[in-house]
Amino acid sequence: MKTRTGATALAALLLAGAASLASGESVPSPSEFLGFEVGADKKLADYRQIAKYFLALKAASPRVAIEVLGKTTLNEDMFMAVISSEQNIKNVTRIREIARRLADPRGLSDEEARQLEKEGKLVLLVTCNIHSTEIGASQMAMEWAHALATATDPETMRRLDNVVLLLVPSLNPDGQIMETEWYRKNLGGKYEGSRMPWLYHHYVGHDDNRDWFMLTQKETRAMTRAVYKEWFPQVWLDEHQMGSAGPRIFVPPYADPVDTDIHPLVWREVNLIGSNMALRLEQAGKSGVIYGFSYDAYWPGGTKNTAWYKNISGLLTEVASARMATPIELPAGELSGGRKGLIEYGPQTNFPNPWPGGRWRLRDIMDYERIASDALLEVCAERREDFLADMVRRARFATAAFGAADAYRIPAVQSDRPTALRLARLMAEHGVDVKAADNGDIWIPLAQPYGKFVNEMFTEQRYPEVKLVAGKDIVRPYDVAAWTLPLMMGVTVERATLPGGLSSFEAEAASKPLAADGAAFALAPGSPENFKAVNEALRGAGAVSIVRAPMSAGNRRWPAGTIVLDRAAARAAAAAAGQAGLVWTPLPSAPAGLEKLRAPRVGLYKPWAASMDEGWTRWILEQYGFDPRPLDNKTIRAGNLSEKFDAIVLPDVEKEVIDKGRPRREEGDMKYFAELPPEYAGGLEKEGAKALKDFVESGGTLVAFSASSDYVLDEFNVPARNLLARAKADDFSCPGSLLRARVAAGHPVTWGLPDEMALFVDKPIAYATVLPGMEMERWVLAVYPDAPRDVLLSGWIRGEDRLTRHAAAVATTYGKGKIVLLGFRPQHRAQTNATYPFVFNSLYWSVLAR
Ligand SMILES: [Zn+2]
Repeated sequence: MKTRTGATALAALLLAGAASLASGESVPSPSEFLGFEVGADKKLADYRQIAKYFLALKAASPRVAIEVLGKTTLNEDMFMAVISSEQNIKNVTRIREIARRLADPRGLSDEEARQLEKEGKLVLLVTCNIHSTEIGASQMAMEWAHALATATDPETMRRLDNVVLLLVPSLNPDGQIMETEWYRKNLGGKYEGSRMPWLYHHYVGHDDNRDWFMLTQKETRAMTRAVYKEWFPQVWLDEHQMGSAGPRIFVPPYADPVDTDIHPLVWREVNLIGSNMALRLEQAGKSGVIYGFSYDAYWPGGTKNTAWYKNISGLLTEVASARMATPIELPAGELSGGRKGLIEYGPQTNFPNPWPGGRWRLRDIMDYERIASDALLEVCAERREDFLADMVRRARFATAAFGAADAYRIPAVQSDRPTALRLARLMAEHGVDVKAADNGDIWIPLAQPYGKFVNEMFTEQRYPEVKLVAGKDIVRPYDVAAWTLPLMMGVTVERATLPGGLSSFEAEAASKPLAADGAAFALAPGSPENFKAVNEALRGAGAVSIVRAPMSAGNRRWPAGTIVLDRAAARAAAAAAGQAGLVWTPLPSAPAGLEKLRAPRVGLYKPWAASMDEGWTRWILEQYGFDPRPLDNKTIRAGNLSEKFDAIVLPDVEKEVIDKGRPRREEGDMKYFAELPPEYAGGLEKEGAKALKDFVESGGTLVAFSASSDYVLDEFNVPARNLLARAKADDFSCPGSLLRARVAAGHPVTWGLPDEMALFVDKPIAYATVLPGMEMERWVLAVYPDAPRDVLLSGWIRGEDRLTRHAAAVATTYGKGKIVLLGFRPQHRAQTNATYPFVFNSLYWSVLAR
């Protein structure tokens, strides 16, 4: 990854006026301004050019304002254009205030609400290009904005008078820049239009659209603040692209299943708009429009999906892709369906006019998107007052769905209080009302406009088994099937009756200063938040030790895994802990029998077939102070790893990708894996496997997540195997669910973990172990329940009987080193805080005696 210089200082330009054009001068078109034809074959505007164009548009048009939403991960300014009539632009403060009141109509009389619905404007959010290869909408946004800024016809003026359009040309500016750079570099060569060998979001790649309830990344957080704290849009369209070989565009209605907790007026508005999109596309002679296809109305992790639970009408469009700006040729025989809503490619009621095949290019993508966007604006203008009234209906319905005193209590007494505070802060960041009691309990009343969102995030999921054809299989989940935050984060919550006398939860005040007395300080294990503080202390001058066996000190028992810090180390740790809410207990003297801890040197495997799990792992390890070093195939193959690393982490990567650099090809599978440029081709190969073995044999620790454990089981002679390695989807399927496991106490990898917990599982893995020879030890660290009915905690699973009594996590010695196999996703998308300690403890174990 190159570091980037010359980031557009958009904020500075905005402050300076940024006016190369005096107000009133003619408004340049994107092509005139940029000096090439936008949308032409092989031409792409990068994000900085797009930003400059929008600044010029703002300078020239009183209908356009620009807001900087915040800094991106790689320090670009992410912006949003506000486009409306001149009058509305002057009046945005009032328009925002009305939108806020309509989104939370508590205390408004019917008459007051009606007045606000009359006066208010529809706030419409359109986000583009969150997935960086889905580049069309970032280019289309410039043309659309130009058309709206310059139109003089009465219909457009009427639309602009009724609607305030918030237009985000890219929700991932860093990736937009990376992809355009990669495209331009390869233009004219063998790899023109090829996939990048690294993630297009520095940490999370395509999963940037899986972060909308957990809010871990800067871009997600900035947009969330604008939506739920500042603008309160009633309608949100997120524009994407899909594969090349099926329909040309998906518009709502969505496919099954539907979440019945979402107000049906959301779907009615979404369907009305989607139908108008389809109508306008058909009138313009655009074939291949489909609805009721692939994309469901159930999973809450994407941009507009999370918004459904906050009473917003969230829409999605997906347009067929070209190879970035390079046209493709698709003969009719290559067109296919194969997904729910279109099994065979051919006319049916949701797809009456299939595209016949032929040439497909960036210009086509932009034209389809532009027509759909205008059709959206048309309905929003037409239905302004109606939709504002629907927002009030939905918000009132959500508020009344629970009793006035229905609430969730997050008790003060928790096995992991710091993570409980993190959960409360997350809800507050979502715009949820969070309350605090004097005794430290945190309360979330459900009778509020976002009460259904809270309930969705706090209760167990039971995936609806919808069958579209009698006697056939159910519709499988689009993405994961579980998102129960208390289970994933390891926080105890309970439904309870709201008491009186609560105050507002203060998200910032959680840290206690270090006590003045004490020669040493103890930090009990049990919270992943400990590790950031302890890692900071390990980098300083003080001494940090770990308790290997339960001990007594300062009138209480301390479990194995307790960290003991001398005064200097404790001071450094407390400073790093920030608002985590850690508790440091002063001890009269430093106890005996401790083992000294040092900072583990951590390597993180990074395949060139870019792995989102690698990115998430890197993000989490950085957040918690582990300072991971990336290890590519070449570096591993070069060997001598034990000189530089104590632990090497293999994130969740298919074993074929680790070994050969390309995914497995099933029999009959048409999935074609396009070659990467030679410098990125291949995998660890034989030398890499040998280098990893040498590393472990000479004392290193290898930690493998989920699918990667299959690689380790193949390559290393360890007394374990995966019983489900060859399981077929009909026998076992678990697309991302929370499963119950018992945790074996007393091992360094499980220190501080509860006896029983939820593991996030999305691969067929069940370990069987056998008694090894005298040269080796093996430990079962976590095991699935005895009875199949006890396995599933949240989500959906088929074949739970295949897991019972088998191991979910195993550790072994190997030569002088250690191996840890975690057959689940211990840090999935930075949502499973409860199981982070499996990873962090493994890294500490790498520098401890075994
Ligand atoms: Zn997408």
